[in-house]
This record gives sequence, C-alpha cells and structure tokens, in this order.
Amino acid sequence: MGLIKNWKPIVKRFEEKLTSWKARTLSFGGRLTLIEAVLVVAPKNKGGLGVGSLAASNKALMIKWLVRFKNEPASLWARSITAIHGDSRCHSYIPLKSSIGGVWKSIVNLGRKSQIQSINAGNSTLREMFPDLYELESDKRCFVSDRYIMNHESIDWFWGSGNPLSNANNIEEWAACLSILQNVVINRDSDVWLWKSSEKVADFAVSAVRNELDYIDTIKETKVLCWLHWIPKKVNCFLWRVVLDRIATREALMIRRFHLPSNQCILCNNTLESADHLLVSCETAKQVWLIIFQWMKLPIPSYMISVVQVLEIINSYKSQKNTKRAIYAVVAATCWNLWKMRNEIIFKQKAFSVAKLIGDIKAISFTWIKNRADLGELNWEKWRSFKI
Ligand SMILES: [Zn+2]
Repeated sequence: MGLIKNWKPIVKRFEEKLTSWKARTLSFGGRLTLIEAVLVVAPKNKGGLGVGSLAASNKALMIKWLVRFKNEPASLWARSITAIHGDSRCHSYIPLKSSIGGVWKSIVNLGRKSQIQSINAGNSTLREMFPDLYELESDKRCFVSDRYIMNHESIDWFWGSGNPLSNANNIEEWAACLSILQNVVINRDSDVWLWKSSEKVADFAVSAVRNELDYIDTIKETKVLCWLHWIPKKVNCFLWRVVLDRIATREALMIRRFHLPSNQCILCNNTLESADHLLVSCETAKQVWLIIFQWMKLPIPSYMISVVQVLEIINSYKSQKNTKRAIYAVVAATCWNLWKMRNEIIFKQKAFSVAKLIGDIKAISFTWIKNRADLGELNWEKWRSFKI
C-alpha cells in the first residue's frame, strides 16, 4: 500500500461520498451509506481493504508514548512529566494530575482503558484477583522486589505491608496469592515494559498495536450484528449504535457533561442508565425479554447482561435460516421499542406498560417481516404463535 496510485480508488470513493455529505442534516439512512463507505478501512479479514482505521492508528501512537515513558524514565520529557504530574499519594503506575488537562491526560486515560498499566498474573492483575489484600496493603506502590528474599535457588515471598493480615479471609487470600507467586520466575534484569509476547523493548511496534485495536474495535459488531434487510435501515443503524454504546443514554450524556435532573434508569429508578442496563439487564426490561423469549419458544437465558451477549445467544441457536432472521428481527424490535418507550416516558410523560410494549414489538416486527421478507404465507395468526 506504499504507492500513491494504490490509494487513488479509496480517495476517489471518499470524495464521492463527502461532496454530497452534509453531516448535520444526514439521516440514519444517509449515515448508514457513509458507514458502508468507511468500511473500506476495516482490516482485510473483516472484509475491508486493510488500510487500518485512523482512530486505531491514533490510539496506537498514543500508547507508544506510555511505553516510552516507562522505558525511558531518565529522558528529559519523562522527567518533566513526572515533575508536573507526579504525586506521592498517587497509586497509579503512570503519574497524572487529573486537574491538568491536555494531551498527557488523554494519553493516560487511554492507557487506563487499555489496562496498559497493569501487572498481569495470567488473565487478570493481582489487584483484581485479591481486592481485599490490595485494600489492606499500606504501600500501594511498592515494588515486587520489596516483597521477596532470594535464598540460593528458592524465593521466599512475604507479606510486608504495615497492616497485618488480621482475619481468616485475608489469610486465605494471601495463601491463594502465594500459590500463584510460587510459579513466578524472577530474573535479575531491571524492569521493562513489553508489548505482549515481544522479547525486547525495541520490538514495540505501533502497527502491532493498531492491528490489535482494529481487531478489538471491529470484532464486537461484525461478529454479532447482521445487516438484515428484513428490518428498516434506521433500526439496523440503531442496533449498531447500541453495540458501540453510542446512543444518548443518561450515562452517555453525563459523560459528555450534560446536566440532567437524574442519571437513573427511568424503568427501575435505582441504577445508572447505560444502554446495556436499559435494554437488557434492567429488571423491568427483563420482564419484557422473558415474555418475548417464551413467545419465540426459545430457552430463557440464565443470565442477561448486555445487548452483545443477547445477540451472541441468538446467534448460537441452531435453527432454520428464516427462523434465525425472524428471531434477530424480534430482538431488534425489542431493543427499538424499549428505547422508544423510554423516550415516551421521559419526553411525553407516558406510563410504562409491559403489555403495550409486547403488543408493539409483535406488531412492528410483523409489519417489517410481512413487507420486507419474502415469506408469502405469513399472516398475523401464524405470527402470533411465532410460526414462520
Ligand atoms: Zn433499570
């Protein structure tokens, strides 16, 4: 892809799309077309041209600064950062004074999201595995080397915190922690930060991080979403935004610093309103899902936490192709109508009704499928008992 001529088709395609693009007035359908155009930047194994997304490239370049900060502590810029952001009370591996905004804050926040600062023990950090011990530890920034003694070939780990292990639960956690630590091989080199399996600091490559981010960023939607022509474009688009956590929930608005009278879920009024909570894990939403799953004659999932997980569950069913599509359409209709009802409660002061919601979901999904799918004999009687 190094030659300019190889980029020409992509540039041309973007130009075609952008000349008629008026972002502010773009409809969902229009946005969808734009999204389809943007898919050229997806990795090759995801059906794109393998150019790599600009957002992933940007994140990868930012992460490079974190790695350099840890591996070049003596450099002038790293010492400046420490002088500005360092704080003896801070327990983080990367210093940041959150009152000081700017590029460094963005970089560190990105690193926190990527868990780049964590010390891994298998799949998770010791801090995550033993939260009570972490809470008890008086020196949260102590080094690994402060907590063991090397006796010839063997290593003795000890609990060196100022706070003693006082109860049975802590002692049990410490025993579990020790059993993990005993398998750790200590070498005498100084500490370095490495990118996954690479063996040398110099092996850190922005392209490797970018590929990984491309993979992570695209996997959720491409794995669970299908662009089903049985449902309207705006609903396909809505579901896509839900999966990306891009709908205007109270949590999302709060993050964008909107002042709201409440950030609680309008359906249960006791949890922060996130997309996954409102559409799936809320107890009130679950009542709706329960009836919908029963109507579709599907087993009730033992637990439901997110929209992606619900889509994964329905993807895993082995059923006939059209049945699978109908199930997908009903799930989309359920999310769509939950969202619509939530808006009507907030903006039109309507009352919540499970029965009305169920009726709407069955009716709207029937209309979609009747008008858009080629299922000749489908009628309302059949649809009411979910016979396709
Ligand atoms: Zn709720």
